[in-house]
Amino acid sequence: METKIIKIGGIEDTAEIKAAADILKNGGIVAIPTETVYGLASSALSDTAIAKVFTAKGRPQDNPLIVHICDMEMLDTVAVDIPKSAYLLAEKFWPGPLTMVLKKSNNISESVSRGLDTVAVRMPSDKIAREIIAVSGLPLAAPSANTSGKPSPTTAQHVIDDLNGKIDAIIDSHDCTVGVESTVISLVGEVPRLLRPGAVTAEQLRETIGDIEIDNAVLNELKTGEKAASPGMKYKHYAPAATVYLVEAESGQFAEFVNTKTDAVAVCFDEDAGITVPCISYGSCKNEITLAQNLFKVLRDIDKRGIKNAYIHAPSKSGVGLAVYNRLIRAAAFRVIKL
Ligand code: AMP
Ligand code: MG
Repeated sequence: METKIIKIGGIEDTAEIKAAADILKNGGIVAIPTETVYGLASSALSDTAIAKVFTAKGRPQDNPLIVHICDMEMLDTVAVDIPKSAYLLAEKFWPGPLTMVLKKSNNISESVSRGLDTVAVRMPSDKIAREIIAVSGLPLAAPSANTSGKPSPTTAQHVIDDLNGKIDAIIDSHDCTVGVESTVISLVGEVPRLLRPGAVTAEQLRETIGDIEIDNAVLNELKTGEKAASPGMKYKHYAPAATVYLVEAESGQFAEFVNTKTDAVAVCFDEDAGITVPCISYGSCKNEITLAQNLFKVLRDIDKRGIKNAYIHAPSKSGVGLAVYNRLIRAAAFRVIKL
C-alpha cells in the first residue's frame, strides 16, 4: 500500500486537515500527532477501519482502544452514566494528556472495547489532532502509531520507520511535547483507579478528586493468570532489541557499575559523571518532564547502535517520574538491579 505523507504545520493548513479527515470518513487509517505520542487514528464508529489498525500495528486482539474526542458534546455520544468526578477531571485536565475509563454507550462497539463494557476517552490538547476530529465529525479510536511491542513514536519519522506502506496516511508534523502516553484512570469502580501513569500525575489526580488507588500493574509484573484491569499492561512493551536493565542507584554508584560491563550502553542522567562505556543521556534527573520527552527517542536510539545490553539509570517514582519508571520497567521486562 502507498502511504500518503501529509505535511501539516498548524490548523491553518485547512486543505491538508480536510484531506486527513476525508480519509478517516472513508474508513481509512491515518497517523496523527498528539501532545503525548503519535496516534494511529480510525473512526471509532467503523468496525472495518478499526480492524485495519489492529492489523497494521500487530496489536493483540484483546487490547481495547482509546477514543479521542474534540468537545464535551462528543463525550455524551461515547459514554453513559458519567460520574461527577469525570466532570471535575475534565474541567481541570481536558484538553490534555488524561484518559478516563467510563461506561460505554451503545455507539461504541466490541471493536473498540474488546470485551469490556467500558470505553477509554481522551480529549487531546494538540490543536491539529482536535481539528482533524472536529472536521471529520467523528470520535477517533487511536492507539500509539508504532508496531505493537516497540517504543511509542514521538516524531513523524518514528511513525514512518514503523508503518510506512501499511497505513493510508501519516501526518508529518511537530515532535510530541509530552513524550509518554496519557495517564489512564478508571472511574467505573467504587474508588478511582490509576491504570497507567502519565503527565497528569497521581498527586494532581488526588488533589482534584480525593482518594485514588494505584493499580498493581503500574509497577509490578502480572502473575500468570492474573487479570489486568487495563489489558495493555500485560504485554511486552517498549522493547528495544537490546537486553535492557533498569538500575536503581546513586549517581557515582551507577557509573562504577556500568563501567564494568562489556558490549553495553549506559542510558544516564546529565548529572552522571565518570562513565567510560558509550552513554546516552535522557535528561536531568531533576526534570522528569524532560526525561519523559526523551524516553522513547532514546529507546529507539539504543537499537540504532546495535549494542547488546543497555543499562538505564532509573528515575524517581514520584510525579511524572512514575510514568517514566512504568515504561522503563516494561522496556526492561522487569529486570531491575538495585545497587
Ligand atoms: P495505547 O493504545 O497504546 O495508548 O494503549 C491504550 C491503553 O489503554 C492500553 O493499555 C489499553 O489496555 C488501555 N485501555 C483502553 N481502553 C480501556 C478500557 N476500556 N479499560 C481499561 N483500559 C483500557
Ligand atoms: Mg501503545
